[in-house]
Amino acid sequence: MPTKKSSTEKATPKEETVTTTILPENGISSYFGEMVFGPRAQKQYLSAASQKAIEKAINEGLAVSREMSDGVAEGMKNWALDMGATHYTHWFQPLRGTTAEKHDSFFEPTGIDTGIEVFSGKSLTQQEPDASSFPNGGIRNTFEARGYSVWDPSSPAFIIEKANSRTLCIPTIFVSYTGEALDYKAPLLKTLAFVRKAATDVCKYFDEKVNDCSVSLGVEQEYFLVREDLFKMRPDLMYAGRTLIGHTPAKGQQLEDHYFGSIPTDVQAFMVDFEEKAHQLGIPLRTRHNEVAPGQFECAPQFESLNLAVDHNTLLMDVMEAVAQDHGLKVLLHEKPFKGINGSGKHNNWSLVTNTGVNLLSPGHTPAQNLQFLTFFINVIKAVHDHADLMRASIATAGNDHRLGANEAPPAIMSVFVGDTLEHVLNDFESNQTSSKGADNKGGAIQVPNIPEILIDNTDRNRTSPFAFTGNKFEFRAVGSSDNCASPMVVLNTIVADQLVKFKNKVDAKIKASKGVAKEEIIKQVLREELTSSKRILFGGNGYGDEWVKEAKKRGLNNVKNTAEALAFYMSPSSVDVFVKNGIYSHKELEARTEIRYESFNLRIQIEGRVLNELVQNFVIPAGIKYQKRLADNVQTLLNIGQSKSSVKAQMDIIAELSNHINKAYELNNQMTNERAKANKLADAHAKALLYNKKVKGLFDEIRESCDEIERLVDDADWVLPKYRELLSLS
Ligand code: ADP
Ligand code: MG
Repeated sequence: MPTKKSSTEKATPKEETVTTTILPENGISSYFGEMVFGPRAQKQYLSAASQKAIEKAINEGLAVSREMSDGVAEGMKNWALDMGATHYTHWFQPLRGTTAEKHDSFFEPTGIDTGIEVFSGKSLTQQEPDASSFPNGGIRNTFEARGYSVWDPSSPAFIIEKANSRTLCIPTIFVSYTGEALDYKAPLLKTLAFVRKAATDVCKYFDEKVNDCSVSLGVEQEYFLVREDLFKMRPDLMYAGRTLIGHTPAKGQQLEDHYFGSIPTDVQAFMVDFEEKAHQLGIPLRTRHNEVAPGQFECAPQFESLNLAVDHNTLLMDVMEAVAQDHGLKVLLHEKPFKGINGSGKHNNWSLVTNTGVNLLSPGHTPAQNLQFLTFFINVIKAVHDHADLMRASIATAGNDHRLGANEAPPAIMSVFVGDTLEHVLNDFESNQTSSKGADNKGGAIQVPNIPEILIDNTDRNRTSPFAFTGNKFEFRAVGSSDNCASPMVVLNTIVADQLVKFKNKVDAKIKASKGVAKEEIIKQVLREELTSSKRILFGGNGYGDEWVKEAKKRGLNNVKNTAEALAFYMSPSSVDVFVKNGIYSHKELEARTEIRYESFNLRIQIEGRVLNELVQNFVIPAGIKYQKRLADNVQTLLNIGQSKSSVKAQMDIIAELSNHINKAYELNNQMTNERAKANKLADAHAKALLYNKKVKGLFDEIRESCDEIERLVDDADWVLPKYRELLSLS
């Protein structure tokens, strides 16, 4: 059995060009990235030429040649073997969610009792997993089941340890035999190339030295934890990821005493463990805290290059789930595991950085004078304005429907929050004036004795906004906690890049047409037009309030409350145009993807419907009847020994109430089952989704109400399902 080696006692590398980096002896830095074939390991195991090829692949998007990949594979294998790995796998992100892997051994027998460990450039770069069982939205028929996974050199290979064995995982894209993307990563990489180029072209107006831009992403991940033994007693949590019934506990989050509270000891032990695993894998986690709801927590890494950040977030979710098991815990990544208390999101902090190190969304001290900042700032606003419905579609899932517009989650209306100061800056800019309000960026100072002077961050927070500017980045807060970030990021990258291209075309045309006018003046003119045509998307008020719903309607902003309707915007003319024209998706790919998302919604609601049926029939009604029978026996006995009817009033009332709710739950549940059968007959995935949403899911709440009343009424001893109060208390 391979033993874990610390980075200081690694076996001697095979190549001659050995350069060892001395790692710090203490702290997280001493093991950070030790399970990753990153630059440090590459330096030890690869020739200078191979290292260069990978570097070029990352920075310039150049493919690593076949000959070169043999050398890389050899070095990667040697590293993996030294690290105790026996198998390797292509690691990809199919459209069903989570990750996919199929392990092959390095070992190859050469005789009856002899063998060698091999790994060729071909095995590294390309595999052909049988792809017929992955969602493809009708792109592939089963007779064309071939799919290819192809190495992504821009995301380093890593080693996963499970059940005392180690496997080398190679991040790949996943495409069909006919070239259509079947995963999240392939289109994401296309959008990254697109936005890099578009942003660089615009940067050249301001700085000729800029010849590349990168996109950064920092993902704040919210999650719930429950005890695994309790989890296993709740079929709804196990199969639907959320509770479908459950009476509100006496104490939920009303005291708001959980947020940033002291972390429960058992939970902290779990956090420390999964953070260690994550750090070994090079995931740069830095923050941990309690969230608003009881049992809810958050972790956040330092931002990274977007492709890597998406891979890391996906990997992190796997790591968290695996480590939780060792602690007798279960991580709930669902957007709304518990009714009546906060749901979980995944805040996507996004920005653009030049190769000269300038954050293009950093306003600096004088944003009003910072034309480069204003250019990128306004173009992002304009992009979100023009494609708000597509942004909404990008985060549409069955789980997120419960969160958006409910209980402290952003509303389903897309809007952009920029904060007071920048709103003034924009107003001044649009009207070509300078008011005192937008003039400086100093913020207010807080004067408290004995503490150093502190500045109030002038880009104040707005927790109610789905898309907020927070200081030097935009934060897409409406993303669901279980989502693959690639889905919203593909949309954001594409629409911003498309807008930057349009903007540049307008500016260039004007420069050509109006000789003699300064370039800056023309940029300002075009920016003013873009701002005027998009400022209705700006909203700084309370996104949770009813007034906003009314106001948004007046402004003509859509409020698309459910996935079944939201997904249709993927196929709207403007969405098709922006994706197809820019080579991100073909029409066929876009259709297939939308189809997959409808299907995923339908399957989720179908599963929820089935589980709810099981709960009603096998748990709730039997518990109600059991208690009712005891009450009835008790009434009978009391009357038999001569007690008056009035003395058994309470029992009689409860019996009647129980009958009422048992009948209701029974009837509604049958109705819901019939509606499912009807919806299942529909062949069209969109029509099916609409029906599932309205007729099947539409009955869930009513069924739940009766179930929750039954829970409230029956003897605790008769209620076998763990209750909210138990699920939500962790020590
Ligand atoms: P919060 O929003 O919870 O107060 P922060 O704003 O400090 O926390 O950071 C949230 C996330 O945003 C972190 O992952 C952080 O690394 C990331 N972040 C900070 N600056 C940028 C940036 N320029 N681009 C992308 N992400 C960033
Ligand atoms: Mg944040």
